[in-house]
Amino acid sequence: MKRRITAPREVLSELREDFSLCGKCKLCQAVMAQQCEEPRFWRNCPSGTRFRYEAYYASGKLEIARCLDLVEIEPDDRMRHALYTCMLCGSCEDRCYPVKQMHPLWVIQLLREQAVQDGWAPMEQFSEMLDNIEKTDNPYGVPARKRVEWEDGLDIKNALDEKVEYLLFVGDDYGVFPELAPRMKAVAKVLRAGGVEFGTLGTAEVSSGSALLMIGDRDYFETVAAANTEKIEESGAGKVITADPHAYTVLKEEYAKAIDIEVYHFSEIAAGLIDEGKLKLANEVKVKAVYHDPCRLGRRQGVFEAPRKVLEAMPGLELLEFERNLKNSLCCGGGGSVFFWEPEYVRWVTNERLFEADSVGAEAIVTSCPICVRMFESAASEGKYKLDVYDLAEVIEKAL
Ligand code: SF4
Ligand code: SF4
Repeated sequence: MKRRITAPREVLSELREDFSLCGKCKLCQAVMAQQCEEPRFWRNCPSGTRFRYEAYYASGKLEIARCLDLVEIEPDDRMRHALYTCMLCGSCEDRCYPVKQMHPLWVIQLLREQAVQDGWAPMEQFSEMLDNIEKTDNPYGVPARKRVEWEDGLDIKNALDEKVEYLLFVGDDYGVFPELAPRMKAVAKVLRAGGVEFGTLGTAEVSSGSALLMIGDRDYFETVAAANTEKIEESGAGKVITADPHAYTVLKEEYAKAIDIEVYHFSEIAAGLIDEGKLKLANEVKVKAVYHDPCRLGRRQGVFEAPRKVLEAMPGLELLEFERNLKNSLCCGGGGSVFFWEPEYVRWVTNERLFEADSVGAEAIVTSCPICVRMFESAASEGKYKLDVYDLAEVIEKAL
């Protein structure tokens, strides 16, 4: 029998109290205003702020869940649009849960899973991504032999051939896009400079499944996840490092339920190495940089401090903060697998974040997620904002 990654599986009806008792108080639509001065930044639900109708905020999607549960409505295109433009950024959950103890983000996730099970999702626009995974084990359709090219010249161990202490899990993006390959190389170089003994799964690593989970296709997610967990177990490495917060989230929340692993984000390892004096930051990195919290790393996993500790230790770097930072952070536009089908809206969200970076006087944005890097870099290349974009690893590499 096929091994399950998550057991028992949660279903939408188990959150009936959450979606039935939403009081439409709209707390989930905005930031904590007392932490943010500029009115333009008071709303940070990307879909609600862009499309404005209630259905695009969490409260509307909870109402959709309630009415579907009571069989009062039938799914239609407008409902699908509202559900799949959500970036799963989790801002609504962070506003609602402390006051109402409800889980709007989890309702939205399970509503997507229910939609897939009931056959009204995912939409046609996701078929290319699904085909890509079928043919290449990667959402962007890049085959495994190309995805490992970033390793060229680095002589990285294969964890399936040699025993290593840490397994470096690459994730879906770093090995795919040419602009990300140097960033992945930087991750490996920093780990090596800090004396971390690591290897990768090489061509045996398949999609983390994060994109599948986000569109609600849990069955397919579990298939790819099982392929990875088998290989991770075979490697015998009990500790896994990844620089990709999307992979980090599924490794921590899903894979770690099936196999015995400790999971670290690269920023946590780097902060530890700096703390222990194992990374010598000799060169100045003279830049006024603002740190962007990736939703899956910050709000979802609570990793706020480690990347800031790294940046505070950088000689010459002036660390700035967004008005919407930490739990108030705005998504970069790359959440929820939305970029696979709604690029104009995604660009609008990314530009909002670039505007905010510009308004705090930043010369550069630093982040620790390959999707955020790609979103920002691509939007900044339009030239409206003069901002460089750095992955945390490449900032460290510059300082070494
Ligand atoms: S989801 Fe929570 S915060 Fe949002 S309207 Fe409903 S009860 Fe209020
Ligand atoms: S997860 Fe983010 S985009 Fe989705 S409804 Fe909540 S705040 Fe809005």
